[in-house]
Amino acid sequence: MFDQNTAKPILKDPFGRTITYLRLSVTDRCDLRCTYCMAEDMTFLPKREVLSLEELLAVCTAFIHRGVRKIRLTGGEPLVRRDILWLINALGAQLGRGMLDELTLTTNGTQLPRFAGDLARAGMRRVNVSLDSRDPDRFRAITRLGDVRQVEAGIDAAQDAGLRVKVNMVAVRGVNDDEIADMLAWCSGRGMDLTLIETMPMGDDIAARDAQFLPLTAVLDDLKAKFQLTPSQHQTGGPARYYDVGTSGTRLGLITPLTQNFCAGCNRVRVTCTGRIYMCLGQDDHIDLRAALRGETPHSLDTLLDRAMLAKPERHDFAAEGGQLTGGVGRHMSHTGG
Ligand code: SAM
Ligand code: SF4
Repeated sequence: MFDQNTAKPILKDPFGRTITYLRLSVTDRCDLRCTYCMAEDMTFLPKREVLSLEELLAVCTAFIHRGVRKIRLTGGEPLVRRDILWLINALGAQLGRGMLDELTLTTNGTQLPRFAGDLARAGMRRVNVSLDSRDPDRFRAITRLGDVRQVEAGIDAAQDAGLRVKVNMVAVRGVNDDEIADMLAWCSGRGMDLTLIETMPMGDDIAARDAQFLPLTAVLDDLKAKFQLTPSQHQTGGPARYYDVGTSGTRLGLITPLTQNFCAGCNRVRVTCTGRIYMCLGQDDHIDLRAALRGETPHSLDTLLDRAMLAKPERHDFAAEGGQLTGGVGRHMSHTGG
């Protein structure tokens, strides 16, 4: 099968899954230090290791030419990358040319008051905003540095600019489990979908994730007692399973890497800000594109993309057994891009 615009072969893995979705981390840096994501005294990568904006665009273009139709920028915090609008506008132009169907962003929301209008003008239609608590003290404790009012102002700015907002909430046992129902009611009142995410065993303190892990199967039972939830037909090819919340038009998504494996329909790959393709969030196998981008290897980007496809595993190894998380990876989520 060939891409209809470029006549290049589309990206297909050995399990017959077509790759149409790229998640690209544009920086490992962030203005927050969420406990489940980063160490408090996180050491960031030397700048020379991080791809330039031009190199990031070259990666996106290579994927677009091979059939990728959707790109999500992430990080670290994508909106703290200097001159990020240059990349967003360049990718927005690809939307205009029909080479991409969607350009989106996962953000902690702190910079949205500044950027929301520009994002909408670039052609973005939706953003995912991570918000684990609306309680100011709790939000500060989870993020170590954050002010929840800044994020709420960011959500206001995004909605004012016409962007659809989906809220991502990592469910952390003993920290925000008592707030999930209120968050769903709040999101639904504002016309926003809510996706709940199980804490994944990633980063340099994987043992700490055991204590934080809250199985969403139990959370769902609790929510069903409070809301009318019906399984939704909505499918993104992504990891979330969706429920319609009453007749509000709001959808509840559940990302359950630990309690219900979601790999069968996986249509995505992730590229880090250093140019490594991780074929799977939950495995350490990767292929380095940076040497090809910098002319330091005879292999072309296309050859490396083909190699990456052959190496895409059938599923990740994360699991929760007897309350203990297994299959963890030492990589930080902020390197790979969540
Ligand atoms: N800074 C942006 C943000 O927070 O939305 C984008 C990058 S962040 C790494 C992307 C998503 O990964 C966020 O929703 C965050 O909550 C989630 N995340 C980070 N570490 C995680 C972990 N150990 N388990 C589950 N989700 C995690
Ligand atoms: Fe930063 Fe996002 Fe990680 Fe929080 S989850 S530390 S906001 S990259």
